[in-house]
Amino acid sequence: MSPIRREWRGFLADTILISPTRYAHLPGACTHLEDEYIKAPRWGWIPDPPSGLWDRLSVTHPATATEGNTARQAVQRCTPCQTAVS
Ligand SMILES: [Zn+2]
Repeated sequence: MSPIRREWRGFLADTILISPTRYAHLPGACTHLEDEYIKAPRWGWIPDPPSGLWDRLSVTHPATATEGNTARQAVQRCTPCQTAVS
């Protein structure tokens, strides 16, 4: 089983995870996260993001969490996660 894009226990592959440092990650796409780290109130997430939200995400188009800590906003994509899906 590949370590890349494996299905995590708690999150679907499309979920956008939003870190306390305002980075967006995808479940299992980079090696520096484990799903047990992803908990409110430190993290927020978007389980069913609108199509293209990941690609539009930027300082001018922040993504706001809809679950977990809903005050979290992501303004940039994690580079390894971006590489994994592009
Ligand atoms: Zn990442």
